Amino acid sequence: MYKELLKILPAEIIKFNEPMREHTSFKIGGPVDLMVLPQNTEEVIKAAVWCRRNDVPLFIFGLGSNLLVREKGIRGVAVKIGHGLDKVVINGHEITAEAGISLADLSLTAAENGLRGLEFAEGIPGSLGGAVVMNAGAYQGEMKNIVAEVTVIDAEGNLKSLSNRELNFGYRRTILQNSPLILISVLLQLEPGHREDIKNRMAGFRQQRQQKQPLELPSAGSVFRRPEGFYVGPMLEQLGLKGFTIGGAQVSEKHAGFIVNIGNATADDVLKLITHIQGLVKQKFDIDLQTEILVAGEE
Ligand SMILES: Cc1cc2nc3c(=O)[nH]c(=O)nc-3n(C[C@H](O)[C@H](O)[C@H](O)COP(=O)(O)OP(=O)(O)OC[C@H]3O[C@@H](n4cnc5c(N)ncnc54)[C@H](O)[C@@H]3O)c2cc1C
Repeated sequence: MYKELLKILPAEIIKFNEPMREHTSFKIGGPVDLMVLPQNTEEVIKAAVWCRRNDVPLFIFGLGSNLLVREKGIRGVAVKIGHGLDKVVINGHEITAEAGISLADLSLTAAENGLRGLEFAEGIPGSLGGAVVMNAGAYQGEMKNIVAEVTVIDAEGNLKSLSNRELNFGYRRTILQNSPLILISVLLQLEPGHREDIKNRMAGFRQQRQQKQPLELPSAGSVFRRPEGFYVGPMLEQLGLKGFTIGGAQVSEKHAGFIVNIGNATADDVLKLITHIQGLVKQKFDIDLQTEILVAGEE
């Protein structure tokens, strides 16, 4: 497989048996057979078409901040849409950006250019692509409100545009989840604002996160989707779960909605902890907690 891929892609962008724990914010996850780190859209298309023609499973990810990868790792090819696919063009109030740019860099660029609408993204540690796929949001903002359209690569390797409506945004959901479409670039529609006001708002959000979230430990953010009418953190706190630990996975002492890796946690530790929490929440509140983080890799 490696030799075949070398015929169509440069050797320096292919990694063999690459540990996913080095590419996830949880610092958890076994090796992927081959990881491709494309530097342009053409390389993404080549890798995707090659996988399809050769019946090799293809996994697409960004900065791995919403992912739990199992210990056996990922079979086939994982394409990381990150550095290299991070160009930005500003045109008036619109920004066209490649999917691999980090939300941190993008929100800063928007602020520097006096464009508001992306302040909520301050502190969300993902890529623009991952943020659109997940409809990431915080502090009353979400990607849905600022995405005008996106460019994707379809299963045949063709570029295609999808409008905001076609993405069918929902709570932490879009049609891009579990689909063969690969997000390549995004057109954002922002509004004019004052650079200092925008930066101040961002600094406020940063401070709130630092106070409330366990940013000093590896995690994948909020583990569970918010059930209507409830907040997961306080619910788990009420169940006395803060600090509850299985192996190296712990319900954060600082924010019970986060599971943190306190040292060499395995995906199994995290999954057992999730099941334990779901059981208690069902028993006490009769609520079926669903996970927000996505689980990948061989069982
Ligand atoms: C400390 C912390 C705080 C967080 N706070 C928030 C928050 O406030 N709000 C929030 O919504 N989330 C939050 N998150 C979760 C996470 O950062 C977001 O979901 C983020 O948008 C994921 O982006 P990513 O690039 O890391 O995606 P990944 O984790 O790499 O991937 C997520 C999903 O998107 C798919 N995907 C990624 N890129 C592409 C692409 N280019 N094309 C097709 N599919 C793709 C992957 O297959 C996967 O299914 C937080 C996480 C952490 C660790």
